[in-house]
Amino acid sequence: MKIDILTLFPNMYEGFKTESIIKRALASNLVEINIHNIRDYSKDPHNKTDDYGFGGGKGMVMMPQPVFDAIESLKTEDTVVIMMTPQGDTYKQSMAYEFSLKKHIIILCGHYEGFDERISSIVDYEISIGDYVLTGGELPSMILTDSIVRLIDGVIEKESHEEETFNNNLLDYPVYTKPVDFRGMKVPEVLLSGHHANIKKWREEKSLEKTKLKRPDLIEKSWFYEN
Ligand code: SAH
Repeated sequence: MKIDILTLFPNMYEGFKTESIIKRALASNLVEINIHNIRDYSKDPHNKTDDYGFGGGKGMVMMPQPVFDAIESLKTEDTVVIMMTPQGDTYKQSMAYEFSLKKHIIILCGHYEGFDERISSIVDYEISIGDYVLTGGELPSMILTDSIVRLIDGVIEKESHEEETFNNNLLDYPVYTKPVDFRGMKVPEVLLSGHHANIKKWREEKSLEKTKLKRPDLIEKSWFYEN
């Protein structure tokens, strides 16, 4: 899988690419992540990428030419192009699964006042990471990339993401580590029993209980509701 990120602030990705699971995935060639400066595609004599919006109003608007040229030069027939925008569909784990099966993803990050509206015509998906406005698409693009890369075969153990929050629309079951007794708060007996069937049953019950309490909206979409 290859991910190309188009940004005006490439330095923001340094820590992202050089730590933890993303670093390992890159080192083992399970994914390629390239950061491209949109400025490099500008045909303006001063490499301009934004200008004042027509009709007045505050803030600079990202111009179509550098963005179109960047996407057109990177795109193949296997590419999906994702625009980061607070106006897009709200990002979900199910989308991360879908994207993790793609061969090539281009993620477009806006800045300032956002994109010239005509840029929408060259993207396949417009995605928002939530109902709030950030200064740029760089953090959202890292969120997408992180959530996608961890689902690529070989990046983390399959088991880790097969049993986690949002799978089957349930929250993950509670987990504990050492010590068995911390300030009087004890690890549930069943987890120390070594009885796998009982542990599995307990985890399913807790997962459902937790979801009912914290995210009742998810339950309606889950397998438990239908059965
Ligand atoms: N004026 C625009 C917001 C621009 S914010 C509007 O009101 O819709 C600048 C850039 O930050 C956007 O182009 C987008 O790439 C990114 N951004 C901000 N909030 C975001 C969010 N919730 N999800 C995804 N991208 C976001």
